Amino acid sequence: MTAHPSPTTALPDELRSAPASRVLVLNSGSSSVKYQLLDMRDGSRLAVGLVERIGEETSRLVHTPLTGGGAEKRERTGPIADHDAALKAVAEELTQDGLGLDSPELAAIGHRVVHGGLRFTAPTVITDEVLAEIERLVPVAPLHNPANLTGIRTAQALRPDLPQVAVFDTAFHTTMPEHAARYAIDVETADAHRIRRYGFHGTSHAYVSRRTAELLGRPLAEVNVIVLHLGNGASASAVAGGRCVDTSMGLTPLEGLVMGTRSGDIDPAVTFHLKRVAGMDEDEVDVLLNKKSGLVGLCGDNDMREIRRRIEEGDERARLAFDIYIHRLKKYIGAYYAVLGRVDAVVFTAGVGENAAPVREAAIAGMEELGLVVDADLNAVRSDEPRFVSPDHARVAVAVVPTDEELEIAQQTFALVGNALS
Ligand code: ADP
Repeated sequence: MTAHPSPTTALPDELRSAPASRVLVLNSGSSSVKYQLLDMRDGSRLAVGLVERIGEETSRLVHTPLTGGGAEKRERTGPIADHDAALKAVAEELTQDGLGLDSPELAAIGHRVVHGGLRFTAPTVITDEVLAEIERLVPVAPLHNPANLTGIRTAQALRPDLPQVAVFDTAFHTTMPEHAARYAIDVETADAHRIRRYGFHGTSHAYVSRRTAELLGRPLAEVNVIVLHLGNGASASAVAGGRCVDTSMGLTPLEGLVMGTRSGDIDPAVTFHLKRVAGMDEDEVDVLLNKKSGLVGLCGDNDMREIRRRIEEGDERARLAFDIYIHRLKKYIGAYYAVLGRVDAVVFTAGVGENAAPVREAAIAGMEELGLVVDADLNAVRSDEPRFVSPDHARVAVAVVPTDEELEIAQQTFALVGNALS
């Protein structure tokens, strides 16, 4: 869920002609590319879009220019063979808006890269050596890193002269202490196969914890926050003074909270059981736990709006799915409260966290002794702005802070290529 700041039309003329102030953010999946072109003088969006079902007959590109006021979204349907064709189609759309990728105003391309292992603790300018390292991490991120690599190589071919920056989902979590990052399994086996807890959604946790400190009006270094990123994928993190000390996702994004389609925490023996007793192979178990579990597995729906609607109608399966989701959330809030010792704010973000007031209310209910209370009226307010939903007198703030991963990637990219004007 992303709020789009107003377009650049309000910029003063002298700034409008400043060179190389744009960053293209690319988030490449196995069959999709999401993109945003931002103007880093004010962080505004110039265009946003998505190419989906790449490689199929029914590919679709949806492009929305955000300059010039009132611009309409454009759609293309029909086969787009691969990422190269997808990015060329995106470039054509941008050119049509006077925002072509050959423009001297484009400063860099920032790529979301899911797995950076332990090596990448910060955004990194992409070199051949960096590409090789991202490739080396494919065994621990088999679904994501190959798609990210394809996106990078395609963008490099299109603009070989331009700096390309990798911003890693795992980077924010590399500050986790060993006692939080290690699984309690045989150390040699773990190290041989790089098995440890890496955590994901780091760009969002970093952005939201920083914005929360601003909302509290206190230096980041002084505040302890629990961030609950509740989208279709969901993760919690404990952040002490701006540094992640624990997070709920692990070797892969499967661990932790109940998600739209993922189980989150589960006894690993369930997987042996499914193989031995149900005759499933590891690919089937993988699909079951990643795609057919979580809310969708429990009640058939993974959209929280639909689940709430069914609950209102008295649907018991939807009620139970909601209760299981909330129970797990409460356990993580309690655990991270204990890990941090002192908490200044519990913060909700992403699609569910930003929009689902009943989830926030239920997750915090009964925690008065911990200083956590939600004010019903504040919680009911709908807004794209960071805000408190706890009453003024609350010992620990409860807040909603909309995430903006694309802006964070663009800012980190722009800062790294040395053009930061702000
Ligand atoms: P992701 O980026 O992981 O795909 P998002 O952060 O966009 O996910 O969140 C998507 C989810 O947000 C939807 O599946 C839905 O459950 C939830 N959501 C979006 N809008 C609302 C709303 N108004 N009320 C409740 N839930 C919502």
